[in-house]
Amino acid sequence: MNQGNWLTEEQTPSYRTQWRVKQVLHEEQTPFQHLQVLELEDFGRTLVLDGAVQTTATDEYIYHEMIAHVPLLAHPNPERVLVIGGGDGGTVREVFHHPTVRKVDMVEIDQAVIEACRRYLPETACGLDHPRLNLVVGDGLNWVAERRDEYDVVLVDSSDPTGPAEGLFNQAFYQNVYRSLKPGGLFVCQTLSPFFHQSLIRDVYQVVSGIFPIAMPYLTVVPTYPSGLHCFMLGSKRHNPLRPGMKTPTWPTRWYTPEVHRAAFQLPPVVAELVRPAKGMESEKRPG
Ligand code: SAM
Repeated sequence: MNQGNWLTEEQTPSYRTQWRVKQVLHEEQTPFQHLQVLELEDFGRTLVLDGAVQTTATDEYIYHEMIAHVPLLAHPNPERVLVIGGGDGGTVREVFHHPTVRKVDMVEIDQAVIEACRRYLPETACGLDHPRLNLVVGDGLNWVAERRDEYDVVLVDSSDPTGPAEGLFNQAFYQNVYRSLKPGGLFVCQTLSPFFHQSLIRDVYQVVSGIFPIAMPYLTVVPTYPSGLHCFMLGSKRHNPLRPGMKTPTWPTRWYTPEVHRAAFQLPPVVAELVRPAKGMESEKRPG
């Protein structure tokens, strides 16, 4: 919410983050959420959905490089990719750096997000016009439920688990993601902050580790996200994201390197504590 010319994002009832707003470039209530594009003094053009910062021109590359390159380089030959959400275009921009990628399906629920980002965040949205992108406006929940053995990598670049994205953080969805993947497939979803969203990370890990043989969280830092420390959850049918002999980027990156990739999986004890295997889950692996 804006107070005067400050954007205020409530992290907890007693902790808020505030950014000085230079200009409100766009604002509308869409069928799914309240959408704003703001010019922030210190972070530039910023997409805000339901009062939560989604992406800023200043630090978006960190999130987008880490959600895309970690799973796509962990997979030996990713050709077919699905992105759920990601309406700002930053994730598909990074996906198309990978020379093996033949086709990407991107399913974004809110047309208004795509249009606003095309108009106000062109550096991020440039990936939305790629000739090998199949851009679908629709609910990722339904799309993934109708897919079988189709993708090498699925990236869930969703907003937080409220509103349209609520269903993207539960067992039924992760089981459908598993079924939509080819035998050697991987998926990654964003799971917010290890400081403020511990139960979410614990719950997502318990579910994903009950479905995928390999389930591993990894960390990065996104200055405009809650607490700055951001967690992703990776589920893999076969390939370990720390396996030797992984390819390295042949294009320039600003955050991702093979060393940053490996370090991202080195969890501090307080985060490792969140993902201790749930007792008695082993027997329930790999449904269907
Ligand atoms: N990086 C951001 C983050 O971590 O908070 C996410 C950015 S991206 C803009 C999030 C997108 O997910 C939004 O555009 C939102 O409309 C979309 N989204 C939310 N629920 C969805 C659903 N069920 N299916 C497809 N897209 C969805």
